[in-house]
Amino acid sequence: MSTDDNCIFCKIAAGKIPSRKVYEDDEIFAFHDINPWAPIHFLMIPKQHITSLAHAGPEHQALLGRMLALAPKLALEQGCDPYPEGGFRVVINTGAQGGQEVHHLHVHVMGGPRPWLKG
Ligand code: AMP
Ligand code: ZN
Repeated sequence: MSTDDNCIFCKIAAGKIPSRKVYEDDEIFAFHDINPWAPIHFLMIPKQHITSLAHAGPEHQALLGRMLALAPKLALEQGCDPYPEGGFRVVINTGAQGGQEVHHLHVHVMGGPRPWLKG
């Protein structure tokens, strides 16, 4: 599995930097965002280093599908209210104009009662 020694999210996935873990399996790690925009805000990352969604190819289809399919389950577990009154928002910032600050692909999952700080 390819990781980047200088990447903060690779270090979090490897447990070298502490985080508030939400979920882990052999391919995926999820943890609470350190600077939440919403009452519930966690990030899902692949354990392998993928720089951004712009770097995803056919070889990542299954992994990305697993991440997206896992989001609703984790959102409910973290306290998001059920659809349709509740729900959650999924965001993948990509590149500078897409607002990406950490260059390891991550899926933001946000939810909880409004108003939110952002979004
Ligand atoms: P983005 O702008 O999409 O690249 O989002 C990066 C997100 O990572 C931001 O919401 C940050 O608050 C979050 N973040 C950065 N460092 C950490 C960290 N050490 N633990 C948890 N979340 C972090
Ligand atoms: Zn990384």
